[in-house]
Amino acid sequence: MSPKYSLIIPIYNEEATIAALYERIRAVIDRLDGSTEIILINDGSRDRSLPLMRELHHHDPRVCYLSLARNFGHQVAVTAGLNHVRGRVAIVMDADLQDPPELIPKMIEQWQQGYQVVYAQRTQRRKEGWFKRSTAYVFYRLLKQLADVEIPTDTGDFCLMDRQVVDVLNAMPERNRYIRGLRSWVGFRQTAVKFDRDPRFAGDAKYTFHQSLTLAISGLVSFSSVPLRISTYVGLFAAFVAVIMMILVFYWRIAYPGSPLTGLSTIVVAIFFLGAVQLLSIGILGEYIGRIYEEVKNRPLYTLSEVAGFEQVTEKAFDRDHPTQAHPEEIS
Ligand code: UDP
Ligand code: MG
Repeated sequence: MSPKYSLIIPIYNEEATIAALYERIRAVIDRLDGSTEIILINDGSRDRSLPLMRELHHHDPRVCYLSLARNFGHQVAVTAGLNHVRGRVAIVMDADLQDPPELIPKMIEQWQQGYQVVYAQRTQRRKEGWFKRSTAYVFYRLLKQLADVEIPTDTGDFCLMDRQVVDVLNAMPERNRYIRGLRSWVGFRQTAVKFDRDPRFAGDAKYTFHQSLTLAISGLVSFSSVPLRISTYVGLFAAFVAVIMMILVFYWRIAYPGSPLTGLSTIVVAIFFLGAVQLLSIGILGEYIGRIYEEVKNRPLYTLSEVAGFEQVTEKAFDRDHPTQAHPEEIS
């Protein structure tokens, strides 16, 4: 018997939150109308996360885990989890309790109404620095403008997806996985559930500035070719300015014969400006070509060093999370 719900939780150095995460999840899934598997993905943690995951698995057979052989990044960790889903519904969430598990029943309600993707949309980001909030604000709006598909603003990876959607995502061959973009791209019936984003439960953000920037660029480049056109537009504009200047210089020569043309600084500025535009254009090209190269190499997306819990889906193991069997003191 396979579980009905699969939770997918990527974990990178989260030893301080795992116990609290498990408790909050347990309180929620014990009340669901079907059995649940909790898929923890260790994304090459260097702390005690993996031993803690092993312990949880021994203590509760609903917990299964995958351990990636090194740190592959959040999006790949989530992809690995999606590849192993056995439930009819997959729910992706962060480990740091910024995505409250208590929202899950609400998402399931929407699924029962017939939605195949239910994404959580942040109304507020509590206690995240102004820099993160403002860059996120600008980025999501820029992406909305540029992307070929409508990617809803202020949504992260916290979402529920029907099996059908998960199968489509799993069948997508691309290596650059910007999951929230792919999730919009696939279509199906989608809806949002709003929530306030809590501060991280413990520890520091695991996404470095560089990782966030990489994710942002990857989102833009994977879902828009507008940046490629920027150089075309700037080139056209520069050509237009050049024609005007040519006419002006010509006029100057005729109107004031003999007077020398001055303006060294103008020339220097123009050279620097056009040099900058050219380098920028090459950089943009590079982003796309680098991605083509990644795709063509066709390496596996991740390597697994340890897997546990996926062999033993027995009726017994999934019996105990039936809501009617929850302890009476937990219901009160
Ligand atoms: N994470 C991961 N691999 C990484 C970085 C982060 O699996 O290389 C996980 C992390 O453990 C957490 C989630 O991704 O469960 C979101 O990370 P974080 O809270 O640092 O991101 P933020 O909330 O700042 O966007
Ligand atoms: Mg977080």
